[in-house]
Amino acid sequence: MSVDIECVVIGAGVLGLAVARALALSGREVIVVEAAERIGTGMSSRNSEVIHAGIYYPTGSLKAQMCVDGRHRLYAFCEAHAVARQPLGKLVVATDEAQCGALQRLWQQGRRNGVNDLQLLSARQALELEPELSCIAALWSPSTAIVDSHALMLALQADAEAAGTSFAFNTPFESACRRPQGFELQIGGAQPMNVSCGELINCAGLSAPQLAGHIVGLSSRYVPLARLCKGSYFSFSGRIPFRHLIYPAPEAAGLGVHMTLDLGGQARFGPDVEWIDQVDYRVDPQRAEGFYQAIRRYWPGLPDGSLEPAYSGIRPKINAVHEPAADFVISGPSAHGVPGLVNLFGIESPGLTSCLAIAERVVQALGQN
Ligand SMILES: Cc1cc2nc3c(=O)[nH]c(=O)nc-3n(C[C@H](O)[C@H](O)[C@H](O)COP(=O)(O)OP(=O)(O)OC[C@H]3O[C@@H](n4cnc5c(N)ncnc54)[C@H](O)[C@@H]3O)c2cc1C
Repeated sequence: MSVDIECVVIGAGVLGLAVARALALSGREVIVVEAAERIGTGMSSRNSEVIHAGIYYPTGSLKAQMCVDGRHRLYAFCEAHAVARQPLGKLVVATDEAQCGALQRLWQQGRRNGVNDLQLLSARQALELEPELSCIAALWSPSTAIVDSHALMLALQADAEAAGTSFAFNTPFESACRRPQGFELQIGGAQPMNVSCGELINCAGLSAPQLAGHIVGLSSRYVPLARLCKGSYFSFSGRIPFRHLIYPAPEAAGLGVHMTLDLGGQARFGPDVEWIDQVDYRVDPQRAEGFYQAIRRYWPGLPDGSLEPAYSGIRPKINAVHEPAADFVISGPSAHGVPGLVNLFGIESPGLTSCLAIAERVVQALGQN
């Protein structure tokens, strides 16, 4: 079987859905090919569901720009589509003197990034907000929120479909060759087929670098080495004494073992940092020990035996263990010279927050329809 279509998006995670929607709204004919049987089975359903303010990322980086722009777009989208979210706000806490300096730097960086509502708090002010906390200072971010990520994805899918996008599930992209006017794709699954398209957008999350390596005609210079960094979560059984999200000062490959609440008020802790060689989502109960230690630095009252293994997510890293965190990569024709092709690499946190802003960048990278 052979199909001809204007635009193919690989992957139906939150990025593929947002990109498909934006391309369809720009007047393109779009099909999303997804290897799994439904939307959002990858990273997009294995995260903290936090709408980040945009504090942590180097000023001028794509992460900073996409997060701040994406947050505004996401709030408006959730409002217009009745997607549940709650503006809980978050406290980043310092538990020693060195971390106080880190909070100062975060405050300055956040303000440079355009997050103007941050407040540095004394221990007393922080305890007024959260009496069970133990800290010597805190940074208050009122515009941090939580969102129902699955409802968000369903709303993006519905919008994309209303604008004419089709979805093909159980349909893995295998490879592509360049043609004078676009690409010839090989699609696997129960009904293998060839698809001709003018534009190809690779939103395959963890697999994006590997799939880009199967696009004949794209130089390997433009494909980063993929690395996997797992983050496990533990759920808390009992009544949590916090009303806001609680984060420690950030660590090298993640934001530290933080406490988030879901929209039902259930607390979970995570994600930790574990560099791995193969995708494996099982949560090792032994990691609980590290969680108790990390959490008791800011919540000494955490009861013994209250943490249960919950789930894990895997960060699509494109930097090595000891390198600084890489920026998002939105690699379009102006970067690699292949017309009609955009690869998304390294879309770790804050990718959920940034999805609508990144989608807009993808449309810009492809140019006018
Ligand atoms: C532990 C963790 C916590 C996070 N917390 C937050 C947070 O609180 N806030 C925030 O803003 N961001 C957060 N993020 C980041 C956010 O979850 C991701 O940036 C976002 O979900 C990425 O979406 P995606 O669509 O690129 O990837 P995915 O959701 O992984 O989607 C990729 C899709 O591609 C499909 N696919 C793969 N190979 C093929 C193929 N060959 N053919 C067709 N389809 C294929 C997969 O099946 C999958 O559906 C977190 C990430 C992690 C790992």
